Amino acid sequence: VVKVDDDAILPAPGHRATYFDGRSNAAQPVQVRVDAGTLEITTDVDDGQPRRYAVDRVAPGERYAGAPLPVALPDGGTLWLDDEAAPVAAALAARADRRRPAARLSASWRAVVACLVALVGLVVWFDRQGAGLAADAALVLVPRRVDDAVGAVAMRAIDKRWLAPSTMDVERRGLVTTRLLALQGRVAPELEGVRIEFRRLLSDTRSEAGFNAFALPDGTIVLLDGLAEALTDDELLAVLAHELGHVAHRHGMRSALRGFGLAAVAGAVLGDFSGVVAAGVATLQTFHHSRDAEREADAFMHRAVAAEGLPPQVIASVWRKFAAREQREGGGGLPAWMSTHPPTDERLRAAVGR
Ligand SMILES: [Zn+2]
Repeated sequence: VVKVDDDAILPAPGHRATYFDGRSNAAQPVQVRVDAGTLEITTDVDDGQPRRYAVDRVAPGERYAGAPLPVALPDGGTLWLDDEAAPVAAALAARADRRRPAARLSASWRAVVACLVALVGLVVWFDRQGAGLAADAALVLVPRRVDDAVGAVAMRAIDKRWLAPSTMDVERRGLVTTRLLALQGRVAPELEGVRIEFRRLLSDTRSEAGFNAFALPDGTIVLLDGLAEALTDDELLAVLAHELGHVAHRHGMRSALRGFGLAAVAGAVLGDFSGVVAAGVATLQTFHHSRDAEREADAFMHRAVAAEGLPPQVIASVWRKFAAREQREGGGGLPAWMSTHPPTDERLRAAVGR
């Protein structure tokens, strides 16, 4: 509803968009239009007086297909333009591109990521020089988008070399997925991109490796048939909660930064997928976590299992099954990424002690 004074000129029809004033977090529906170098935003709650900004003073963000375009306003507000306001988005973006020709470069997310990786590389180089900055410190400089890219690359590589489609019952897959996502909604609703992939290990020659689940930095949790067959639904949920703990703490990215080095992470992100990354992923050591990381994931699992109303015996039972497997396979046969798990009997004591 646009109220108009008697002597006011009726505004030209605008496009619907969403506006945040920068002070409250309430989204306001607005009408937007661009006219003669001026961006006009009319809110329903205003008295019909549009806010006006010189187009040269607003800063459209990066554009992604299918996502609304954020536009930063000089007074601290933000405008979100989706498909309905596509002509306005196009006008603002064209103007911004003309203003700074270098914008074409930053429109490429790969270039942005490369710059960030270069920055992180510098931090790590300082670390190697003994300046005392750890990979964990570098982690905060790495945007989540890099986690997504690394996760996608790793999944493709692992799939190609190690995994085959799951033969697990489709109904049970649905049930496991539903329960995991419900659990995530309860204990870690802020996490984005969490999903579960079901796979079977290609080769049976290393059967112990098929008795596992692992998490990738983008929130993908891979469950292998070998583990699914051995555990009950409740036990599976506990293991998946442990993997969700790795996602919540960004352990995958931490391991990748530490293990591969930044150059390799950059390579993976930029699509130059060769050398160290290929070798690292191929041995499934990519997401080889430190013992501290395992303890953090275990603590997350304990909280999640309690939040689900499941008894802690479920966790104890999981560790008993892992212990039995270790005994059968012989500890030496365990893949390296499992051997850094805290010893199973230590975990068993922690579970039973609760
Ligand atoms: Zn773990």
